[in-house]
Amino acid sequence: MLEIPEKIHQAIIDHAQSGFPLEVCGILGGSAGVVRSHYPMTNTDASNDHFMMDPKEQFAVIKAMRADAEEMLVIYHSHPESPARPSEEDIRLALTPGVCHLIVSLQNRYTPVAKAFTINGGVVTPVPITVNGA
Ligand SMILES: [Zn+2]
Repeated sequence: MLEIPEKIHQAIIDHAQSGFPLEVCGILGGSAGVVRSHYPMTNTDASNDHFMMDPKEQFAVIKAMRADAEEMLVIYHSHPESPARPSEEDIRLALTPGVCHLIVSLQNRYTPVAKAFTINGGVVTPVPITVNGA
């Protein structure tokens, strides 16, 4: 279960739309399944079907979250042309079983779909998202 404030949920979708047709990626911080912070990241691969985070940027975000007593809850990325489910590569490269993977699909460009999963040793489990208006 993942709780995402509406503002952040919208900001993730806006990020995905603004990066289209390339994949975008980012990190969400918070605690106990409740998202409180949003860090858009650079996709250093600048690709339309995969992403790579800049390790320096990633380190700075981890530091900032630690300073705010938050943990990394979510790694998100967009799928400009494919559905909101982890690709084979996403599954292979997922090395953080405790972190949710959120995927924003822009397959139907003007009806974005966001879904979250945990990926643990090749096993993909959907995680329900609650978008909070407050
Ligand atoms: Zn993917």
